[in-house]
This record gives sequence, structure tokens and C-alpha cells, in this order.
Amino acid sequence: MDALHRYPNTDHAGLRDAIAEVHGLDADRIICGVGSDEVLQFITQCYAGQGDEIITTQHGFSMYPILARAAGATPVEVPETDRRVDVDAILDAVSDFTRIVFIANPANPTGTMLDDQELRRLIENLPSHVLFVHDGAYTEFADGFDGGAALVRDYPNVVMTRTFSKIHGLGGLRIGWGYASRDIIDVLNRVRQPFNLSAGQMAAAEAAIRDVAYTAWCASENAQWRTYLRNALVQMGIGCDESFANFVLARFESAAEAEACDAALREDGIIVRRTGGYQLPECLRITVGDEAACRRILDVIARFKGVR
Ligand code: PMP
Repeated sequence: MDALHRYPNTDHAGLRDAIAEVHGLDADRIICGVGSDEVLQFITQCYAGQGDEIITTQHGFSMYPILARAAGATPVEVPETDRRVDVDAILDAVSDFTRIVFIANPANPTGTMLDDQELRRLIENLPSHVLFVHDGAYTEFADGFDGGAALVRDYPNVVMTRTFSKIHGLGGLRIGWGYASRDIIDVLNRVRQPFNLSAGQMAAAEAAIRDVAYTAWCASENAQWRTYLRNALVQMGIGCDESFANFVLARFESAAEAEACDAALREDGIIVRRTGGYQLPECLRITVGDEAACRRILDVIARFKGVR
């Protein structure tokens, strides 16, 4: 607060060093942005344009097609199988015009995940002119997962994006980062404004990432209440895939039932995410809260279903 009359540093060195230390990465291959959204924007801006195609998946994160169009490129959406990214569907859609493939892993809003073997099969079958973006916004909630860091190490055409918005609880501050080869990071830095991150953003992010014990506690709390939430929903007859993120996707009988449940929750002051825009109109995405929040929402849903 005392130093806010000064401009921030332009290279984010302190924050990149902290990220590199905590995650065992090379600081020179990290770029920081205003949320991972900005890093995703740098990627589309630099690597796609008019006449190019960007592959996204059926229930994929809504920013991907928006960023594709903003870059003048055409988003090509491929189907998922039972709410999971389908590697073969992506490979089938690759053309001479494809420049980027986007997936979030774990995915939003489904919470599902591809394993290492499937990811490597996808990357190894992509032509070398295609950049594979592994969006790891929810990585820390998937126990033991490196978010795609090993994929970046092993393949030159992979970019990993990460964020402080989820596990670190700093969505309002807008800080994200990317990890890739030095060549790719060099290209992305050419479109980055020198002062894209404020001193306050960087100081908060550095403190947050160095607090590894608190991060681990958040992940373990999330895992515990995520299981509790899912089991309780399933017991009420509500479909719910295993989630690797900080939310679960509750699957109702119909869009009408999901809408009615959402109305009942709102009546009680609880706001969940409607997922009609993600081609999942029969679902509601529920954030994993603390114990009290989970019990409270389950109470309302049980009353709505008439099971209690
Ligand atoms: N990727 C995915 C899959 C997300 O769900 C989100 C946030 N909704 C983001 C990226 C962007 O997050 P941020 O810009 O806050 O880092």
C-alpha cells in the first residue's frame, strides 16, 4: 500500500519466481496475466486469425469460442461423450486450418477429466502446427495432478494455463499465468502490456502461492465436501458424475426440473450456476462450499425433491 505511487515491475519477476519455486517450474517459461482469461486471449490473438479454426468441445468453457471469434478465427465445436472430452472427436475435427485446441482439465462445468494417457494420445496425434492449450484452472482440486506441466516439458506445442481465482480464492483480483516453451512465451509477451498486473495483484498472488499449507488445506476440505455433496445428491436420485473440480454438476430429470430446483434454491437465497448455455439445460452446477453451505443446499434440494 505504501508503494502504490510507483509503477509495478513489468516482468513479474517476483511472482514468476514464486510460482516456479512452488511448482518446480522454470520461471523463464511463465507469463502472468489479468486472470488466465488474459493469457488465453494472448494465445488466440497470437496464434489464430481470419481463416483459421480453433477446436473447442461441446460443454467446454464459454470463453474459448468468444476469444476465437475476437481473433477473427472460427470456433469448431466437437461433441463430448457422456460429458467428457472425446479425444477421437477432436482428432477427427483437425484440418489444415486448425491452429489451436482448447480443453479445460478438469473441465468446467462438468468437472470431468482426461487422464495422462488420453492427453498424450491426443497431443501425439495432433499435427505439429496445432497448439494444444491445457487449461488447468481447476488443477489443484484434482489430487496430485500437475496441471499439464509434464506435458509442456515433453511437447513443444503445449501451453498450460493456471489461475489464482479458484484454489487461491482471488477471483476478484484477476491474476492468472501460463507455462510453455520459451519461444511461445516470447511470442505471448509481445502482445502483453508492460503494466498488465498491478503491484497489489502481484503481492497478493505471491503471498497466496507461497502459503502452501493453506492451499493444501483448501484442497483437502474441497475434496471432503465434494464427495459428501455428490453422494448425497446421488442418494436423492440426482445424477452426478465424479468431479475433480470445486463444484459438482447435478443432473435432473429434465430442464424443467432443473429450473424448478434453481427457483427453489433462489427462494432460499442460494445461487447456483444454470448450465443451459453449456448444452446442459437439465443440470445445475453447484460450488462446493464449506460444511455448513453443503448441508444447507442439500437441505433445500431434499425438500424440493420431497425426500425429507
Ligand atoms: N478456464 C476455466 C475452465 C474457467 O472455468 C475459468 C473461470 N471461470 C477460467 C479459465 C478463467 O479464470 P480467470 O480468468 O479468473 O483466471
